[in-house]
Amino acid sequence: MKLYIAVDGEGASGVATANEMVPNRPGYEFGRRMMTLDVNAAVAGGFDGGADEVVVNDSHWQMNNVEMELLDPRADLIRGVGKHLGMVEGIDEGFDAAFFIGLHARAGGSDGVGNETIYGREVIGIRMNGNLVGETEINAAVAGYFGVPVVMISGDNILCEEVRQTLPEVETAVVKYAINRFSARCISLEKAHGLIREKAAKSLREVSRHKSFFVEGPVEFEVEFMSTAEASLASLMPGSVRRSPRCVAYTGKDVIEARKGLFSVLIIGASASNDIYG
Ligand SMILES: [Zn+2]
Repeated sequence: MKLYIAVDGEGASGVATANEMVPNRPGYEFGRRMMTLDVNAAVAGGFDGGADEVVVNDSHWQMNNVEMELLDPRADLIRGVGKHLGMVEGIDEGFDAAFFIGLHARAGGSDGVGNETIYGREVIGIRMNGNLVGETEINAAVAGYFGVPVVMISGDNILCEEVRQTLPEVETAVVKYAINRFSARCISLEKAHGLIREKAAKSLREVSRHKSFFVEGPVEFEVEFMSTAEASLASLMPGSVRRSPRCVAYTGKDVIEARKGLFSVLIIGASASNDIYG
């Protein structure tokens, strides 16, 4: 069985403050270690559950966080930036299942730890075909395009509740309980890693009961930016529509094309200089 693992940072065990999530800040080395240890628990659980090939994709910030020298040697690691499928780069029909480790709740829907959707400052919210979504749903839809079910997820309690609306069968490992965006009650690493490993193995043993999240095309993404500066620039993207002063939409024939449009809109929008009046 071939297993794909995407790993983000905000939802990693023990991580709570912004300094632990952002490269080059004090606390970042702790954050990346936490990501690495969570991944190792997921890889171990994957092999326990029947995987014989595991590919991990570093999905946080510059996507070079996981510590290669500490990673379980049975797993390959995709690292680095500029990947067209970003958090799910490298996924294809050849995989049997996916885990999302260290994810976080979508922007502004709750007090979830590190809640944000792709761009923490510039984006208020993203809708997919009219429904508010987070990174989990967007990436699950890309995995679903290739027929790959997301069978297990780890993060805080709010993420794990939120994701059930879209993936009701997903196994969840709650590694911390959110107090607000940058504080949490964290369970011990020993318990958290045990839980990730256990849920990972269980999800693969029962992989046949999981369905992939397939979103029928055409697919529309609508971005509500923090300000009109981002929306104005983002609407330079050919094919995009400026729905309202802060809102830009892009529709693709399927989720892959729509996601490419979404990221182009986001990258162009986020390039706006917005320091004073954001
Ligand atoms: Zn994220």
